Amino acid sequence: MQTTSTTLVVIGGGPGGYIAAIRAAQLKIPTILIEGDQLGGTCLNIGCIPSKAMIHAAEEFEKAKHYAHGSSIGIQVSDPSINIEQTVSWKDGIVKRLTSGVGALLKKNGAQVIKGWAQIIDGKTVAVMQDGKELQRITCQHLLIASGSTPVQLPFMPFGSSNGKVISSTEALSPTEVPKKLVVVGGGYIGLELGIAYRKLGAEVAVVESLDRILPAYDEELTKVVKTALKQLGIEVHLGCTVQGMNADHSAVRIKNAAGEESELACDKVLVAVGRRPRTEGFGLESLMLDMNGRAIKIDDQCRTSMRDVWAIGDVAGEPMLAHRAMAQGEMVAEIIAGKRRHFIPASIPAVCFTDPELVVVGKSPQEAQAAGIEAISAMFPFAANGRSMTLESSEGFVRVVARKDNHLILGWQAVGKGVSELSAAFGLSLEMGATLEDVAGTIHSHPTLGEAVQEAALRALGHALHI
Ligand SMILES: Cc1cc2nc3c(=O)[nH]c(=O)nc-3n(C[C@H](O)[C@H](O)[C@H](O)COP(=O)(O)OP(=O)(O)OC[C@H]3O[C@@H](n4cnc5c(N)ncnc54)[C@H](O)[C@@H]3O)c2cc1C
Repeated sequence: MQTTSTTLVVIGGGPGGYIAAIRAAQLKIPTILIEGDQLGGTCLNIGCIPSKAMIHAAEEFEKAKHYAHGSSIGIQVSDPSINIEQTVSWKDGIVKRLTSGVGALLKKNGAQVIKGWAQIIDGKTVAVMQDGKELQRITCQHLLIASGSTPVQLPFMPFGSSNGKVISSTEALSPTEVPKKLVVVGGGYIGLELGIAYRKLGAEVAVVESLDRILPAYDEELTKVVKTALKQLGIEVHLGCTVQGMNADHSAVRIKNAAGEESELACDKVLVAVGRRPRTEGFGLESLMLDMNGRAIKIDDQCRTSMRDVWAIGDVAGEPMLAHRAMAQGEMVAEIIAGKRRHFIPASIPAVCFTDPELVVVGKSPQEAQAAGIEAISAMFPFAANGRSMTLESSEGFVRVVARKDNHLILGWQAVGKGVSELSAAFGLSLEMGATLEDVAGTIHSHPTLGEAVQEAALRALGHALHI
């Protein structure tokens, strides 16, 4: 059996792992990346990119249906239809282009990719397995674990059960047909993004959430706008309800409300989206006996684990489980190994929900500022007063800014509305650069854009908004 020696071994070719390997190779660190499935990980294959492709397709179809029912904009369309198999193959084409691009980038930069499942032998040795056989053994100076996460199953209705009716987001992203009735278990961002897409594709959708509101990780003022939109779309939302399992003939999901009353929701498919958990089992990780933070690997602000020269990044290192956080950590670890002084202390990690309307939070909300003992001011500017929003036929939502009262340093931004995901870059930049309200208010924002609402929110916080 072949044994290879290298400086850095990366386990997992998702956004965390592949970015770490590219940056390490750019810095001339001999690097081997081991990926058991497809390069690009959850993000490119079964997560961010395919979900946004399906959301876009659903939105376009919904638009066509809207025009077919007669619209004030003057566009007429007759009887639109969708070929879901073609939609899925279009989505697969995007995934393929991106994942082969990742392979090409790794190769171009000189990182070696080995296809196979890594089995950790010790902190400096990894075996590469294929079909249960050991292909080769690699020794390394640094071991970077970027094994990602997996969807959480409900033990009483696991994925694939009830004749394949119970699915995870992975299956939901490659449908062969649009179910007539879809029940979504979980009112977090994955459940709602996909639930909304399926509704637009023509399914009757019911969302079941055990807490008393949707998107519980987000501030209620923002989620209220999404809740209203769900109602307008005709999505049933069952809050404060727990799922009990499928009924006897697998035709409905049994739910129980807070008062203990049981009822059934008829379904052709049930999408279980109740969260994701770090992938820490099945590849010998436990043999390292690393300190853990719950189910996640515990890391410090340089992504070091409790074992010297063993690093962990991305979803396997816990929340927030977001691709851009995994990438930023991957880049940083490569640079630290190359001798640069780096710490992972971002001013903020933006979070976006690609619901309709979209939702962005960056930095602190007014409540978070208050909880941190900071005297803060905040102001919001509604898209109803923004010209661009009107031209886009969507004036619901707002932008809100939070800043310190004493020196006007911006602490956070929140926005809800159509297309606000694209504002997250400006929000993140203002926090990272330590901008004040005056900086944003004094920056000329092009007209007509949604960005003008950002400037107006800052102006409003200073007491002199111009368009409201
Ligand atoms: C439906 C959905 C939508 C999402 N949308 C967004 C979004 O819009 N924005 C966002 O920021 N995030 C989103 N996410 C989350 C995002 O996909 C993850 O945060 C991100 O992929 C984490 O990257 P990672 O590198 O840590 O792990 P992953 O992307 O999970 O990659 C881990 C890789 O490691 C491989 N691996 C694991 N163990 C081994 C082993 N022993 N040997 C070899 N290979 C191994 C796996 O095969 C996998 O390819 C979404 C997720 C889902 C499911």
